Amino acid sequence: EHYLRRIETLDDALNGYITVTAEQALEAARAADDARAQGRAGALTGVPMAHKDIFCTEGVRTSCGSRMLDNFVAPYDAGVVERFKAAGCPVLGKTNMDEFAMGSSNETSYYGPVRNPWDTERVPGGSSGGSAAVVAARLAPGATGTDTGGSIRQPAALTGITGLKPTYGRVSRWGMVAFASSLDQGGPMARTAEDCALLLNVMAGFDRRDSTSLERPEENFTAALDRPVKGLRVGLPKPFFGEGMAPGVARVLEEAIDHYKGLGVEFREVDLPNAGLAVPAYYVVAPAECSSNLARFDGVRFGYRCEDPKDLLDLYTRSRGEGFGAEVKRRIMVGTYALSAGYFDAYYLKAQKIRRLIADDFARAFQEVDVLLGPTTPDTAFRIGEKTDDPVSMYLSDIYTIAVNLAGLPGMSLPAGLADGLPVGMQLIGNYFDEARLLGMAHQYQ
Ligand code: GLN
Repeated sequence: EHYLRRIETLDDALNGYITVTAEQALEAARAADDARAQGRAGALTGVPMAHKDIFCTEGVRTSCGSRMLDNFVAPYDAGVVERFKAAGCPVLGKTNMDEFAMGSSNETSYYGPVRNPWDTERVPGGSSGGSAAVVAARLAPGATGTDTGGSIRQPAALTGITGLKPTYGRVSRWGMVAFASSLDQGGPMARTAEDCALLLNVMAGFDRRDSTSLERPEENFTAALDRPVKGLRVGLPKPFFGEGMAPGVARVLEEAIDHYKGLGVEFREVDLPNAGLAVPAYYVVAPAECSSNLARFDGVRFGYRCEDPKDLLDLYTRSRGEGFGAEVKRRIMVGTYALSAGYFDAYYLKAQKIRRLIADDFARAFQEVDVLLGPTTPDTAFRIGEKTDDPVSMYLSDIYTIAVNLAGLPGMSLPAGLADGLPVGMQLIGNYFDEARLLGMAHQYQ
C-alpha cells in the first residue's frame, strides 16, 4: 500500500511505470502476510518488485516500450518473473523502457520519456530507465532490468542507485523479449549492493528453457558482502581514464579510489588495448542480432496489425512501419545491411573478431588483477532532448559499459558521489562468475 500510494502521487511526474498492477500486488501481499503468519516466509516474502516491461508477465501487458506490443498480453511468466513470484514478491507493475531496449535515455519509448527524479528535465538513462527512476524515487524497493550494452549500469549511474549485470548465462533469458541474444542479460537494480545481492539470490539459476543458461552450484550472494577487501588487486583501465570523462566524474572517482586505498586495496593501471573498438563492434553485432530477432513481429501472430491490409506484403510493411519507432527501424536497417551477402565478412565477421580481441584483453587483465574499476558513464545525466538528434553521441554514453557485454563478464554500477548535485556512477568489472566479489566491494563503499 505504501508503494502504491507513492506511485499514485508521484509517478505522473516521472512516467516510470507503463502498467501498475495494484490489485494483483495487494492480493500477493496478503498471501505473503499469510505465509509470514504461518512461518513460511523467505528473505524477500512480501517485498514488492517492479519488472522492466521486457519480461513477460502472464495476464499483464508486456509492451517492451513499443507500439508493436502495446496490445500484447503474454500467456506466461518469464523465468525471472516466476522466480520472484515463487519468492513471494508482489509485482507493483511494469516499468518504462526504451523501445525494445534500444537507447540510452529512455526517450525512444512509445509511452514517452522517463524523467530523472534528481532533476525532471534530465533523462534517467536507458534502456532500463523506468526501473532506475522508480527505485531512485522509492516507488519500488527493487526492480529488474536488462543489460545488452549498459542498460542496467548506465541508468543506475545516472539515477544514483546500484545495478548489476551478471555474467552472461547466470540469469534466464526465457520470456525476456530478445534484442541481441548473445549480449542480453537480466539483472537486479536496487538502492544498495546488499539489496542487489538479495535480488540476485532470487534471479540467478539454471533454466533449461534458455539454451545459453549455465548450470552452476547455487551461490548465496549475501554471504561474502563483508569479506575484507584488504589486499585486493584492482585495475584501473587506461582507456577508461583518458579524455572524454567529465572533470566532475573524475573527481568523484579519485575520492572513491582513495577510500578503497584506505581499506587496503592495491591499485595498478592495466591496459585494454582494444576497448576503443567496443562501441563500433557493438553497433554491428547488436543491430545484426536485433534485425533477426525482430523479424517475428510481422503483424500476423501477435502484436500490432495495420488496418485493412490489401495483401500480405502490405500487411507486413505497414504493420512494421507503423508499429516500430525510428530508432528500432534504424537498428533493423543497419543490421540487415551488415548481414547481407557481400557485406557479412566486412562487418559482422569483423565485429565478431573484435569481440574476441576484447574478451582476450579482459582475460589478460584478470591475470594481473581481481577487479577492474572505472567510471560507468562519461558524464552525469544529460537533458531530455539533448542527444536525440545525434545517435552517435547517444551511442557514446555507453563507451565504458559495452565492452563488458561483448566479453560476457559481470559488471556493476554503484553510486560513488555527486558532481554538481547529480549522481556519479562507479563501475566495477569482475571475472566470470565473480559477482559476489563485486557486490562485497560495492557494499564496503556504501
Ligand atoms: N544503449 C545501448 C543500445 O541502445 C544498450 C541498450 C541495452 O543495453 N539494452 O543498444
